[in-house]
Amino acid sequence: MEINHNNELLPSVNSLTNMDDYEQTYKDFNWEDVERHFTWYETGKCNMAYEAIDQHVEAGRGDKIALIYSDAKREESYTFRQLRDKSNQFGNVLRKQGIGKGDRVFIFMARSPELYICLLGILKIGAVVGPLFEAFMETAVKDRLVDSSAVALITTPQLLGRISKSETPDLKHIIVVGELENPDDSVISYHAEMEVASEELELEWLNRDDGLIIHYTSGSTGKPKGVYHVQNAMIQHYFSGKVVLDLRDDDVYWCTADPGWVTGTSYGIFAPWLHGVTNVIRGGRFSPQDWYSTIAKYKVTVWYSAPTAFRMLMGAGDEVISQYDLSSLRHVLSVGEPLNPEVVRWGYKTYGQRIHDTWWMTETGAQMICNYPGMGIKPGSMGRPLPGIEATIKDDKGNTVPPYTMGNLAIKAPWPSMMNRIWNNPDKYEEYFRVQGWYISGDSAYMDDEGYFWFQGRIDDVINSSGERIGPFEVESKLLEHPAVAEAGVIGKPDAIRGEIIKAFISLREGYVESPELKEDIYRFVKEGLSAHAAPREIEFKEKLPKTRSGKIMRRVLKAWELNLPTGDLSTIED
Ligand code: ATP
Ligand code: MG
Repeated sequence: MEINHNNELLPSVNSLTNMDDYEQTYKDFNWEDVERHFTWYETGKCNMAYEAIDQHVEAGRGDKIALIYSDAKREESYTFRQLRDKSNQFGNVLRKQGIGKGDRVFIFMARSPELYICLLGILKIGAVVGPLFEAFMETAVKDRLVDSSAVALITTPQLLGRISKSETPDLKHIIVVGELENPDDSVISYHAEMEVASEELELEWLNRDDGLIIHYTSGSTGKPKGVYHVQNAMIQHYFSGKVVLDLRDDDVYWCTADPGWVTGTSYGIFAPWLHGVTNVIRGGRFSPQDWYSTIAKYKVTVWYSAPTAFRMLMGAGDEVISQYDLSSLRHVLSVGEPLNPEVVRWGYKTYGQRIHDTWWMTETGAQMICNYPGMGIKPGSMGRPLPGIEATIKDDKGNTVPPYTMGNLAIKAPWPSMMNRIWNNPDKYEEYFRVQGWYISGDSAYMDDEGYFWFQGRIDDVINSSGERIGPFEVESKLLEHPAVAEAGVIGKPDAIRGEIIKAFISLREGYVESPELKEDIYRFVKEGLSAHAAPREIEFKEKLPKTRSGKIMRRVLKAWELNLPTGDLSTIED
């Protein structure tokens, strides 16, 4: 379709320390220069947990705060030295059970300091960690443990009931963090074992293609798949932490994602600690008050969150903001879903910060196309490829298309943090690389003539109405500019004449009630502001939209509702 291109440009936000000139850096770039930062460039032997924690202690930064944890009940901080010692202890706890290199060890628990200690301990002995979001129910947990043949699981008393031991034959060890009412021999007590474990550990040195982590994706499009990453990914975690997150020594960094999702590990653990930065972790659920007070209290400087959170904060009104001092913020970023231009404008108005959108996927392991310090921001664009990353738009035959043409967003393979396999599913893995030399992302986008990429929707979500291809994101973003709209999900609904018509599911902002007039008004708003063929001929108001636990609107569920079809795998849906 003809693209309604938005030409707004906001100048770059931050003073530039890490990347002064995009074009130059891009041109001169060489991944090997990044690798030189690591000691393993010389020795050949690596371990993510060593690079993230131990090396800082060895370099004399052991007393620096590595982790500030807070939730409604706990507030604790840990230095790099404390994390080194505790993760050593936990590595010993695992080794005592005969667990070692290459074994899959899962963590199924709510955020807590222990979660981070366990994760690091798993990595120290060369095992592969599989983090699971605490909200998974029995079947979802079982499917993932069985698929990955996990040998051990770390969980809490509250979640223990969701583990079906009879159906997970490979699972030999369950370690419980917290007091059990009726302790029994079939589980291991974290606290009892930690008490007797040594703080000295012989680290398992690994090769760069040895395992690191297995993430089951959020399932916006179908059954979760085990995306397996190797140690080599740290090159890109480190590099993107530098140029995209713009991390500096005295930063206080807060990534709001749970480690059950890739953002919560690549950027909630690895990138900040590879840079030796103080990392804030907040447990518990989202609330505007708690979130703002977290920024104010710890003087957060770099904040990485998601569109759904920013939209909720926007919906909560600007009055809440005035009660908190957010002046510590220097850099704000977003990931997970398209970031609507309206949200970018709001962020600028309220925080004086342009929210930097970043695009990447579980499969890519790290940020790929981003807005970052040093380049102008175009609200609604996900930015430009990182140095070292080549992106393009391809048609279904694998040919590159000209600027302003919608097609498959593709990345030249490989890159350092590229997934190594889809666990147990080589066919699925091959599918991504069906065009020789390229990774086909499954997202639809176009590129403008300055090399900025514009997300349009997932390939499966693109709507075909009266012969035009319409990306749902563009329509949703327009809808969000309407004062009554808090969130919107747009799908194509089959139509005898037009092929598909646009149907919008909308949740309203506080103070608005649904009415036929409001529907009409919203329809006109999109028709006049965007185009007639993109305007939603049908609108349905919903109190809430179906979302994944990581906050993405599940359009396939909206579509299934609409067509009275089975909704498919719902293990990752919010309650
Ligand atoms: P599944 O693959 O199981 O359906 P998922 O794709 O939601 O799950 P993730 O890997 O967590 O799992 O999400 C990556 C996807 O999220 C991208 O392919 C894209 O569709 C969307 N996404 C992430 N960041 C952005 C962004 N900045 N702009 C637009 N879309 C984004
Ligand atoms: Mg995906």
